[in-house]
Amino acid sequence: VDFRADNPNHSTLPSIDDYEPLIGSETADRIRGKAEKLRDLHIVNVNSTYYGGGVAEILSSLTLLMNGAGIRTGWRVIQGRPDFFSVTKRMHNALQGGEIYFSDLKQDIYEEVVFENAARMHLDHDVVIVHDPQPLPLIDHFRKKAPWIWRCHVDLTKPDPKLWEYLSGFVERYDAVVVSLPEYAQKISTPQRFIMPAINPFSTTNKDLTEDEIDDRLRHYDIPTDLPLVVQISRFDKWKDPQGVIDAFNIARKQVDATLVLVGNIATDDPEGQEIFESLCSSREERIRILSVQDSAFVNALQRRAAVVLQKSLREGFGLTVTEAMWKGAVVIGGNVGGIKHQIEDGVNGFLVDNVQDAAEQIVRVLKAPELRATVGAQARETVRSKFLMTRLMEDWLDLISSFEA
Ligand code: UDP
Repeated sequence: VDFRADNPNHSTLPSIDDYEPLIGSETADRIRGKAEKLRDLHIVNVNSTYYGGGVAEILSSLTLLMNGAGIRTGWRVIQGRPDFFSVTKRMHNALQGGEIYFSDLKQDIYEEVVFENAARMHLDHDVVIVHDPQPLPLIDHFRKKAPWIWRCHVDLTKPDPKLWEYLSGFVERYDAVVVSLPEYAQKISTPQRFIMPAINPFSTTNKDLTEDEIDDRLRHYDIPTDLPLVVQISRFDKWKDPQGVIDAFNIARKQVDATLVLVGNIATDDPEGQEIFESLCSSREERIRILSVQDSAFVNALQRRAAVVLQKSLREGFGLTVTEAMWKGAVVIGGNVGGIKHQIEDGVNGFLVDNVQDAAEQIVRVLKAPELRATVGAQARETVRSKFLMTRLMEDWLDLISSFEA
């Protein structure tokens, strides 16, 4: 069956043309040329959740843009029971520097569920891109005829050595590994490549909104707008340090009055989210709003209306929320870790902080200087325009894939 991308009764696929006013015709033509050369390929991406978290956000846009450019690019999601995702979340935590007791039982659950997925997946594509540790062992179950690429999105600054040793048994079978930054490179024989993620400026999360649309979304969730908004938008995850955000806000409030809004969603592959959300709610105060919802338009509205956006992560492979907020000209205060260090240039297009006290001081400084939104915010938007739009990500992938075709 042929997919009718040009069905006049429906919306059309996104295309490089949409980005041309933002990236210029020279860049657009170059990317079109690279895409043209790969038109015959059939590519598949495999990850572990359809929504919640940056990987799903990237795949939902990138796969459509690739199809819009004429390259058949699919997206499969592995299925697993909560016990599987409980094991993989522990692995994720240990890769980011936490500890894990990786028992034989956990290993069996992990490998068995991936085997079951492999049996149903029929991966006979020209390029297979596997995202993050959850589906990593898939490669064990195929006679490999095409390049397989493992794309690991986590902050690999200091992975648990034993767990890494176990996982590297799978990783070594891949033809390439892609991580976000050179400092995440590991001692493995597989060639490693570095590609930073990017955002879709036309998605519900990022597209322009009118003031009325912003008001409407904020009213819907009863967000008070009488005082400046301090906002963090993140899955409820210890690495996002939501408690640190609350502590910093409480210190800052001794000097400036504001409302804190913490918004998070709970991904299907993240079983810790609900528990962390509930533990935060128990310490609720009048000027602190904590919401668990999946509403991209609300995320968009908050990032646009916020006086300051926090992303006080302790580990962060690459913070899409940082780039999303910067695209809206927000002043972002980010944790001085992982990808955020490459997204924010301290004092130029945002601010980096090392601890709760730093964050509190920076919140006060930004709230007392509303003119920063124009200066720092403009730099922030320009950074995203030049480095972090989806077309740049697509071009990086086209370059990597064509290196296998050569
Ligand atoms: N997000 C969302 N709703 C929320 C929290 C996050 O839609 O309540 C989106 C957010 O806009 C971003 C992604 O989820 O696109 C999170 O990506 P990021 O890289 O910041 O963190 P990750 O969850 O992948 O660690």
